Amino acid sequence: MTDLNSKEILLKENEKLRFELAIAHETKDARTAQLLKSEERLALAMCGASDGLWDWNIETDEVYYSPRWKSMLGYDEHELENNLNAWTSLVHTDDNPYLVNEVQTLLSGDTDSFEVEIRMHHKMGHEVYIRSRGFKVIRNSKSEPVRLIGTHVDITLQKKAELFGARHSNILEMIAKGDTASAVYTEIALMYEERHLGMRCSMLELDGRKLLHGAAPSLPKAYCEAVHGLINGPEIGSCGASSFTGKRVLVEDISIDPKWKDLKTVALPYGMRCCWSEPIKSSSGDILGAFGMYLDYPSLPNEEELNALKSAAQLASIVMDREQNQKRIRNLAYTDELTSLSSRSHFYLGVEELILISARDQKKFALLYIDLDNFKNVNDTFGHDMGDLLLINVAQRLKTACREGDFIARLSGDEFCIAINDEVNDYGAAHVAERCLELVSQPLALAGRNFTPSCSIGIAHYPDNGTDLRTILKAADTALYYAKDLGKNRYAFYDVGLTQKAEYRVKIERSLREAIENQQLSVVYQPKIDMRTGRIVSVEALSRWEHPQLGHISPVDFIGMAEQIGMIKELTEWVLKTACQQMVVWKDAGFSSIRMAVNISSSHFLDRDLLPLIDRVIKDTGIMPGDLELEISEGVVQTNEENLAVFRHLKERGVLLTIDDFGVGYSSLASLKHLSIDFLKIDKYFIDDMLIDNKAKLLVSSMIEMGHNMGHKVTAEGVEKEEQFDMLQSFGCDSAQGYLFSKPTSAAQILRLLGKKLTG
Ligand code: C2E
Ligand code: CA
Ligand code: CA
Repeated sequence: MTDLNSKEILLKENEKLRFELAIAHETKDARTAQLLKSEERLALAMCGASDGLWDWNIETDEVYYSPRWKSMLGYDEHELENNLNAWTSLVHTDDNPYLVNEVQTLLSGDTDSFEVEIRMHHKMGHEVYIRSRGFKVIRNSKSEPVRLIGTHVDITLQKKAELFGARHSNILEMIAKGDTASAVYTEIALMYEERHLGMRCSMLELDGRKLLHGAAPSLPKAYCEAVHGLINGPEIGSCGASSFTGKRVLVEDISIDPKWKDLKTVALPYGMRCCWSEPIKSSSGDILGAFGMYLDYPSLPNEEELNALKSAAQLASIVMDREQNQKRIRNLAYTDELTSLSSRSHFYLGVEELILISARDQKKFALLYIDLDNFKNVNDTFGHDMGDLLLINVAQRLKTACREGDFIARLSGDEFCIAINDEVNDYGAAHVAERCLELVSQPLALAGRNFTPSCSIGIAHYPDNGTDLRTILKAADTALYYAKDLGKNRYAFYDVGLTQKAEYRVKIERSLREAIENQQLSVVYQPKIDMRTGRIVSVEALSRWEHPQLGHISPVDFIGMAEQIGMIKELTEWVLKTACQQMVVWKDAGFSSIRMAVNISSSHFLDRDLLPLIDRVIKDTGIMPGDLELEISEGVVQTNEENLAVFRHLKERGVLLTIDDFGVGYSSLASLKHLSIDFLKIDKYFIDDMLIDNKAKLLVSSMIEMGHNMGHKVTAEGVEKEEQFDMLQSFGCDSAQGYLFSKPTSAAQILRLLGKKLTG
């Protein structure tokens, strides 16, 4: 009822207005001009101070827009044309159809007036919400409308408040529904940005004193990244300071404020000029983070903006508080209270996830099931408190035995479990198990008495012993009983055969480590003969290992092992030093023209320690770089930049380079072209076949020829027969090595061979 009444009153008032306006438009006398000028006043009387007026003459198609109508959109009196297009082009495209529809219904005579809310473009680029009203003026004889007149009211503030309200309740709903924190943070930021023109908002969470990016949908990524991870402090921007002091920080001008002296370089380029920050606090007053508001001009907040800042921080605190609580709850559920290791439930989740990842990547992992030996006795003898103390201690020791990325947990009582990621062979698990046994069995004082704990370990593998959590756990548990059965204080695999293999392997790996560390290896030397003179031009150093119990172990085996246990650098260094020192002795004995060849394993070749190592040995032993040959297997002959650079650097030092085992690696001769090498050493495999297989013979002769064409000298290895020697000589091969001349032998024996002719 009231609505109808007010409409009627409005209609009447507008009838009056319409009349006055009509006069003003049609008569161009002084009175009209004055009327036009006083239009604003007239409107004030009719419609209220903030209304703009429009008047569309349907017959002439002219439109009159009042100054207020224009200024509402940021335009001056003469900036808009007096036609309908000036209007429609400023209406938001989504809202245009509504307006057109309302106008058409009005014209068609079904209604007398319309009222519609539309968005229009302000000259500055932003949107203005307008309530547009229109009325018909029927004056001609056929009772057709001759003009439409109406008003515009700027309802932006009201509209924004409404939208803000809607967004606000939406955010509360999101929080209630448990939406992710980052989604809620983003909504909060966007809500305040929408309400305050040109404002950009950010939320930072505190982790200890570290500032973590929460949300900042409108700030540049580079800025967010620069701030993420910073430690808060009084001079770490506005938010770093407010989260540090717990007090609001209002920076009017980033470019001169000392709090921004370090950070301004990442803010100013993106037009961030002022920043106001409110600490975000929990219900108990703890500082959780900071809410920041940025503008692209220096400014301090007015009362409304200040209220916005406070309420934004409050809203954010609801979510942050929830997050922190959840984190605490998760931590409680996921950690074992006594030992601070992961809890059983956390471990199970972790292993389930590991199964998924390993299935996807087709990888193995191992599960170590660890149980303390005779733990019950400890509780009975020393009491439960001491039992707890032991468990804490053991947990710490087991943790030390783990490598990065291993997942350790206490399952219950004295049972622990470790998941070892990315197992390439079965020995990694055995190594960790060994370390666990060793560390756990260190003595400790319990209730003033010395006590030596021990544990047993069962090992199972995914996928070999099970592809789901239950099965693998059961397999590891079964293995644990094998270990207990075998006498405790040891590990056992679920696959019984593996236990022995792993034990053997771990044992010799340990003795190899000792042998290398204590320099218990030896070096033998095998001559390389110049094909023309029959004399030794060079000797190859080959390492030997005599195991005290296992006897002679082939270098093919222990070199590979040294690579796996990460001892190859130490081994190479020792061989290089020993061989070079030996050569100095021979030179001093008068044999000045021989060289020393040392094998470099391919896994060491790309190590960045190789070049410094070579330099060190040359310097320490005083040999000439040109007296040293490095034999590198064909596997590293790849023309990627990394490899080429190593070849180049070695060459720059004047060291000679040999491609070893040439021919078996199928590297194309073309790829050799890029490498500055000196020798090709044809593999024994071809030399063996040469006498019985014509193809092999042809291959050897062409390898020699092509090697020469590329400027390399060619060596043949594994020469055992005179016929091979003769044939190689006829092909023009430069040098040869093999049992025909000498087996690898002692330095003393080499001294006897030096200078002698070793051929026919
Ligand atoms: P390689 O570099 O191809 O060394 C040649 C191997 O063939 C040596 O075996 C040598 O004793 C053997 N050999 C030489 N002439 C004859 C022959 O006429 N007949 C037969 N049947 N064999 C012959 P060894 O000493 O057992 O070494 C095996 C491999 O172990 C070497 O192959 C080399 O790759 C590696 N190696 C040995 N010592 C070292 C070392 O100090 N460092 C590195 N990185 N690798 C080494
Ligand atoms: Ca070699
Ligand atoms: Ca070889």
